[in-house]
Amino acid sequence: MQTRTAKVALLAERAQTVKKYGTATPRYWGLEAPGVQLRTAARNAIALTFDCCGGPGGSRVDRDLLDFLERHDVAATFFLNYRWLHANKRTARRLITNPLFEIANHGSAHRPMSVNGKSAYGIAGTRDVGACFDEVSINQEYLAGLLPKPPRYFRPGTAFFDDVAVEVTRSMGLLAAGFSVNGDGGATFPAPTVAAQVSKAVAGDIVIAHANHPSAGTADGIKTAVPVLRRRGLGFIRLSDAAPAPPSNL
Ligand SMILES: [Zn+2]
Repeated sequence: MQTRTAKVALLAERAQTVKKYGTATPRYWGLEAPGVQLRTAARNAIALTFDCCGGPGGSRVDRDLLDFLERHDVAATFFLNYRWLHANKRTARRLITNPLFEIANHGSAHRPMSVNGKSAYGIAGTRDVGACFDEVSINQEYLAGLLPKPPRYFRPGTAFFDDVAVEVTRSMGLLAAGFSVNGDGGATFPAPTVAAQVSKAVAGDIVIAHANHPSAGTADGIKTAVPVLRRRGLGFIRLSDAAPAPPSNL
């Protein structure tokens, strides 16, 4: 539970953020906004990331995938949405208590991060800076109460950001996470496509996939790709295990 003082501090931070960024005009909308981390600096490892989106149709658990990662010591980062967390408290605990996994913030209402209501894939984005702040902070506060340390990374629903929303995220002390390899096409790819996509990854890549669609091809594709990548001498890391790649946009 938040104390009254913490609530007041959060409201003050929200007001300050709205004041600072409320009149800024975004210039970019998409998956690779300036300041979004797309790759890591790891020289021999890949960062697998799995979103758990929540909401209607998105609140399930791919147990087959989790069992595989645990059994084969495959480190990964899980981006957990507030709605998914509430629907899956026991699985959330399983992920949180396993040091193999890093927990990151996948938003409160699972909205694309826009300061002016732009949408992505038919999902309405946050309507203004205050809504951006809430999209990060509600889930961040909740996760901070569950974890020994608050999450370091935020990836919004759909992974879409505008450049001002990235600044808002960073001003809140979080790193904006993107990806360089689309592993499961929003949990729509069949297993052979997932296997082919993920097997193409090279050192430093951040792979995005999902852990909330047990009927998708994700688990079987990952099971095929992991040994392929290991045979190429690549390991698996959590996002915090490596510095961000030094891309032109950071
Ligand atoms: Zn999502």
